[in-house]
Amino acid sequence: MTAVRTNLLDLNPVQLVEYCMGLDEKPFRARQLQRWIHQLGISDFSQMTNLAKSLRAKLADCALVAAPPVVAAQRSKDGTRKWLLDVGGGDVIETVFIPEESRGTLCVSTQAGCMINCLICATGKQGFSRNLTTAEIIGQLWMAEFALRQDIQSTDAAAAEDRPQRQISNVVLMGMGEPLLNFDACVGALRLMLDDYGYGLSRRRVTVSTSGVVPMIDRLAEECPVALAVSLHAPTDELRSQLVPLNRRYPLEQLMAACRRYSRHAPREMVMFEYCMMDGVNDSDAHAGQLVDLLRKGAFPVPCKVNLIPFNPFAGSALRRSKAEQVRSFQKILQDAGILTTVRKTRGDDIDAACGLLSGDVQGRTDLKRRLSEITVCYQDDSGLN
Ligand code: SF4
Repeated sequence: MTAVRTNLLDLNPVQLVEYCMGLDEKPFRARQLQRWIHQLGISDFSQMTNLAKSLRAKLADCALVAAPPVVAAQRSKDGTRKWLLDVGGGDVIETVFIPEESRGTLCVSTQAGCMINCLICATGKQGFSRNLTTAEIIGQLWMAEFALRQDIQSTDAAAAEDRPQRQISNVVLMGMGEPLLNFDACVGALRLMLDDYGYGLSRRRVTVSTSGVVPMIDRLAEECPVALAVSLHAPTDELRSQLVPLNRRYPLEQLMAACRRYSRHAPREMVMFEYCMMDGVNDSDAHAGQLVDLLRKGAFPVPCKVNLIPFNPFAGSALRRSKAEQVRSFQKILQDAGILTTVRKTRGDDIDAACGLLSGDVQGRTDLKRRLSEITVCYQDDSGLN
């Protein structure tokens, strides 16, 4: 029987050192391996020429470097790219690259499906299948970074020479899934993104987006305080509990208190609030006033920025996008109250890559009651809190 080989994409920097020492190798070999894999995109050990031949042979026997295979790739007319990746068991996840003039952002999935079931989101409608592994999360960055580099080299050799090597400057854990319900695997991937021998991204260029898993927000602050985005979508508990069912478990007062604590650890000492704007649901001037009260005058005022996201309609949802003039009016009320507020430009909607449209195809199906009980189990298992 052949032994199962270790996927080196699954190992964070500390684990890779331990792995090398387990092979009777010096710790610096881990740095060399990390450079080959994460900075040069090499998965074939025989090409890792500064490793001794004996180590290359050992690795070929007991290890591999494997990202989830791409089953489809699409390109929007605005340059946005979307890949569908096969994570086995009939589940497919999605990864999206959004190129802009000054940066390239990769939106990464963290679960196959999602158990939160937000009203605004196509992923939530599918139910939850399973957590992704660290290899499947960092594998999305690994695949996308080197696919993009290869594209540039093959289409425009001169541009490839001019441009800096790295194509992805920012990563957001904002694709399919709730990252804080897959905490350990996500933190493993985050450590590789931040590591100088991995992707070398600064903390402010890596964002975790959560629907508000309060105990894990505190744990993220302790273990890996990257930028935090919170999907708020409503200024009151009554409305938010309808849009984001997790609010019934962690209402706004608890969430705001956690965000305030997090802001002390966050890059630029602030939290980003995402507010998806739906016509006639949460977008009135009165809602904007309530939001100002919540963020500025509530029991826990939070240093923050607000990002308004025009809702992206999807099949089966009766919700509609807010009118542009109402979005502007909402923005003005927040800005007049001194809250920095931006409006997100919709990207990639011709390939269903815009916010809230990622759906992949997952096999698991769970009802809401079970999802909420599983959420409780997840945070107890992962955090030991409460
Ligand atoms: S918005 Fe995020 S947390 Fe909510 S259902 Fe979609 S993927 Fe899950």
